[in-house]
Amino acid sequence: MVQRFQQYIDGVFEDGGASFDSLDPSTGKVWAQMPRASAADVDRAVRAAHRAFNAPEWTGLTATQRGKLLSRLADLVAAKAPHLAQLETADTGKIIRETRSQIGYVADYYRYYAGLADKIQGFTVPVDKPDMDVTVRREPIGVVAAIVPWNSQLFLSAVKLGPLLAAGCTVVLKASEDGPAPLLEFARLVHEAGFPPGVVNVLTGFGEDCGQALTTHPLVARIAFTGGPGTARHVLRNSAENLASTSLELGGKSPVVVFDDADLDSVANAVVAGVFAATGQSCVAGSRLLVQRGAHQPLLTLLKRKAEAIRIGDPQDMDTEIGPLATRRQRDHIEDVVARSVAEGAALITGGKRALDDSEGIYYQPTILDCPNATISSVREELFGPVLSVLSFDTEAEAIALANDTAYGLASGVFTTSLTRAHRVVRALRAGVVWVNTYRAVSPIVPFGGYGLSGQGREGGLDAALEYTRTKSVWIRTSDEPISDPFVMR
Ligand code: NAP
Repeated sequence: MVQRFQQYIDGVFEDGGASFDSLDPSTGKVWAQMPRASAADVDRAVRAAHRAFNAPEWTGLTATQRGKLLSRLADLVAAKAPHLAQLETADTGKIIRETRSQIGYVADYYRYYAGLADKIQGFTVPVDKPDMDVTVRREPIGVVAAIVPWNSQLFLSAVKLGPLLAAGCTVVLKASEDGPAPLLEFARLVHEAGFPPGVVNVLTGFGEDCGQALTTHPLVARIAFTGGPGTARHVLRNSAENLASTSLELGGKSPVVVFDDADLDSVANAVVAGVFAATGQSCVAGSRLLVQRGAHQPLLTLLKRKAEAIRIGDPQDMDTEIGPLATRRQRDHIEDVVARSVAEGAALITGGKRALDDSEGIYYQPTILDCPNATISSVREELFGPVLSVLSFDTEAEAIALANDTAYGLASGVFTTSLTRAHRVVRALRAGVVWVNTYRAVSPIVPFGGYGLSGQGREGGLDAALEYTRTKSVWIRTSDEPISDPFVMR
């Protein structure tokens, strides 16, 4: 049975005009049909969001009432997490163990911003003029265009919708054309929570028409984008049309630096989780492993054993540890980079082939490449797949230089038992997140974002909500004296 999903515009669920097929990556077969939003649908959605932004049903709510709506949404997400997880797994191939635990945590993101809604405050200014009170109000910025890629769509939209709704904005959320089912289903929870029509609109369509129409729309005040740097450049050019302020959460080629004093068994577990979780389709994947020479071979041996023991299979099975890639396009890209890297001199330690050959699913083996130098393609390019590139270094200075030798700067990891060295390396790494003796921890309370090609702006924490506001300075004259005639000299 092919399921049919609907888009959500102005509080109404609708089929839309055209539709497209969505594949289950574990079988390669069509399992659902999605509405393909046109430029006209985008225009209706943005106009609905703009009307809602100015309507008393939304603007008349106190911040505390907005927080209560978010809190209700959090409860619904938590209650529906198993169903949403099953949909995300069906539509993207991400394993059910990961989607269940991640979506459970998505509810906590909404809870955090529910509590923050009535803590977004303005301030007073001790102005340098007599008889004046100056206050600075924080006001919601307006209609937000939120755009997410196909991996972890519920999570990536929560880090946008939580703060923007807390701040009092309205939104048109564009799901990726790959794997949009969980977001279209999430719209039903928004509806059930009782948000006024038009406050949240959810649609999915292709980048060239739907994404283009959304990011150029004159009524959009802010664009919150997550995706690749190539698309981000289009989005920035598009924003020249409406001069919308823009936040960009982009890709990474994150280094994990391992010194030879670290506990290698513990490191091996962290590295495997860091690069192979979500089948490597994670922006923070620790895909560049930099190992001090003395630990290089022992760690490689441990990693090979662990990678070869990973259970690959049906993503809906709770015992599966690696599922399929989300798209064939993605697998083609990974195969191309791995082949180029081997031709350039990288040694294939394990993997490098399609997995489960008898299946139509889009499977790829966990792969480790031992790389002679940092010019190898797999060291430089983001693969967004289960591929680990390993390099060795001798000194701390060399480790830092290698770690920073990338155009990206999203995440990084350091493993050492030396406290002083950990502090020095943390300071030297150019990345928005540094994990020391751990990897992949995230929280709604902690800012997240990148340096360089990994983007601009931060999501998470209090500042994320402020990004969806702008200030209004209010001057109030407190004197009862009449204003004197400006043309009479005193
Ligand atoms: P992508 O191609 O850049 O797509 C991202 C989103 O942009 C999709 O919804 C896409 O729609 C849309 N889009 C495409 N063309 C557009 C246009 N001209 N105007 C407006 N929107 C447009 O991303 P991807 O390659 O699928 O996703 C993986 C990338 O996202 C990786 O680089 C990954 O590291 C990054 N990522 C970053 C973070 C982070 O927080 N930093 C988190 C997750 C992923 P369609 O899907 O319909 O084309």
